Amino acid sequence: MVKYIEKNKVKYLTFPHLSKHKNLIHAFTTRHGGVSEGCFKSLNFGFVKGDKLANIQTNFNILAETLDIKVENMVRSQQQHTNNILYVTEKDRGKGVTKARNFDSIDGLITDRPNVAIITSHADCTPLFFYDYEKKIIGLAHSGWRGTAQKISQEMLKKLTKDFNSKPEHILVGIGPSIGPCCFEVDKDVYDIFTNQDDRYMQYIKKKDLKYHIDLWSINKLILKDNGILSKNIVSANICTKCNTDTYFSHRGQKGKRGTMIGVMMLKNLN
Ligand SMILES: [Zn+2]
Repeated sequence: MVKYIEKNKVKYLTFPHLSKHKNLIHAFTTRHGGVSEGCFKSLNFGFVKGDKLANIQTNFNILAETLDIKVENMVRSQQQHTNNILYVTEKDRGKGVTKARNFDSIDGLITDRPNVAIITSHADCTPLFFYDYEKKIIGLAHSGWRGTAQKISQEMLKKLTKDFNSKPEHILVGIGPSIGPCCFEVDKDVYDIFTNQDDRYMQYIKKKDLKYHIDLWSINKLILKDNGILSKNIVSANICTKCNTDTYFSHRGQKGKRGTMIGVMMLKNLN
């Protein structure tokens, strides 16, 4: 279903249906291959949890070399559990990585420009990778439970179809590692938010004692299919970050003391 690549001691996850496209670079990082220590061990990209800045910068340099992307070409979201998506171009390169951002509350990025590497941050919340292979447009979204309830995947597809004339049947989607239905346990308030929105979500929520377990992967899939994405074009890693803290950082699995992984996508110029 998904494939791990190991290069320069960096281990990252890829989606074969995206890898087929040679003009596209994409990755979801694991904990492995960086220089950070302790709860950040080792490939941490989170600036705000207390890791040393120099280590995070080194980690970015290691990943840049591994993926053959320039650090200066990266642009990173500023996530606040919204469904806001920003279109970025050459002028945004470096923002959130090598220089300050001039935007906030952005949980999804989209671009049609080559050599603009878009990045979102994750440590349990679902990464969604989008690629329109006809129009050559990439999108990345951070879809935790709030983003899923606000249908950030639908917002991404709206942008692709309205602003770029994408056809849903040409869009490939990868659902990356994140907290699974095994571990994503919530109280009734969150259960109510989902079930008040759509009865069909009931089938993806299981009651366990006084708590509820929500399958956000399946809910995201349902939203994608509702918006015309073909089942065969959706690949879900089905990997729970909390069950796999040896490979992934997990906010819940490490009780908040954790590093941050990133999703990365970039279009290449194939000349
Ligand atoms: Zn789990």
